[in-house]
Amino acid sequence: MRDFGRGNYRQIDDYAFGSGGMVLAAPQLKEALDSVKTESGRKPFVVYPSPQGALISQEIIETLAHQEHVAIICGHYEGIDERFVERYVDLEVSIGDCVLTGGEIPAMLIVDAMSRLVPGAVGKSKAVIEDSFYRGMLDNPNYTRPAVWEGVEVPEVLTGGNAQEISRWRRREAVRRTLTRRPELISRASVREYLQGVNVAVIAENESVNLAGLSEICRAYEIGRPYIIAERKEIREAMKREYPEAKIIGSVKKAINILGENVLAVKISESPSVNSLHSFEIKRRCLEHDGNVLFIFAQDDRMLEGVDGLTGYLFGESSDVPAGVRIGIALDRLIGKR
Ligand code: SAM
Repeated sequence: MRDFGRGNYRQIDDYAFGSGGMVLAAPQLKEALDSVKTESGRKPFVVYPSPQGALISQEIIETLAHQEHVAIICGHYEGIDERFVERYVDLEVSIGDCVLTGGEIPAMLIVDAMSRLVPGAVGKSKAVIEDSFYRGMLDNPNYTRPAVWEGVEVPEVLTGGNAQEISRWRRREAVRRTLTRRPELISRASVREYLQGVNVAVIAENESVNLAGLSEICRAYEIGRPYIIAERKEIREAMKREYPEAKIIGSVKKAINILGENVLAVKISESPSVNSLHSFEIKRRCLEHDGNVLFIFAQDDRMLEGVDGLTGYLFGESSDVPAGVRIGIALDRLIGKR
């Protein structure tokens, strides 16, 4: 900024009106900003680290990493002239609820976190995806040699060499840590990979239920073939013809039995009731459950009577939208990718 300072002392700040502390001045800031243009001649995306900004997060870092050009304005003293903030700053970010003397360390923090997302910056790109926050969950704990240190052993599974068990352990530990340390993260995390078996069943009360696309939706979420449940034989026959990929059966209990012993049933009907849990709570309970999860979608509670489990509701009530699509939206909220 000194390049754009005024007078012999290359002044870039002045007394704050009304309080007397020093504030970085708008004209000099604007000239400094004008001196850094993108190749296309456009204004860069301007970030102002400030204790009054939005709390920094991996999402914000990812948003910044996708910008063509980012300029970070480091404040000092009392900060920078508010008129410059209002006119030229695109995003104010805070690195936490504490006050630093200047924006330089927050700027370094932002650049460091962004640079990890540049392909090639981190040797093993898979490591970036597995880090805390990338999918919205915390990372599992890590250990290195020696296998025993001060009498404490590395978890046995890690030295056993069974890749499948190791990845199961890592997922479980990540879930355990997130649930105990930062449960609020789960509301916006991608949880599909942390759940063991996910299954979908839809109760078809008549032939007109439109489940077009349901099998494809299940594939997209790495869920096996969906169950379609119909009490009446003629509906089962119609469903078999219409949805050959689905597994057609006569009752919810049968689907639960097929899946085995440890099944968490999540009953999702079209209308909210006093027992309905919000999607965050359903996600949390599914993560806590160490076994199969069965999401059961139904128009009303009639066919769900006698089935133990959690209760939720199908979001976005609208009979104009086919049931298959609405189930897809609900699944995305519950287990979808961030
Ligand atoms: N008067 C300001 C206030 O109370 O909001 C504090 C100014 S601070 C002493 C000086 C500069 O440090 C700020 O303009 C900002 O650029 C930077 N800064 C201080 N704390 C920060 C934080 N938690 N996150 C991001 N930047 C911070």
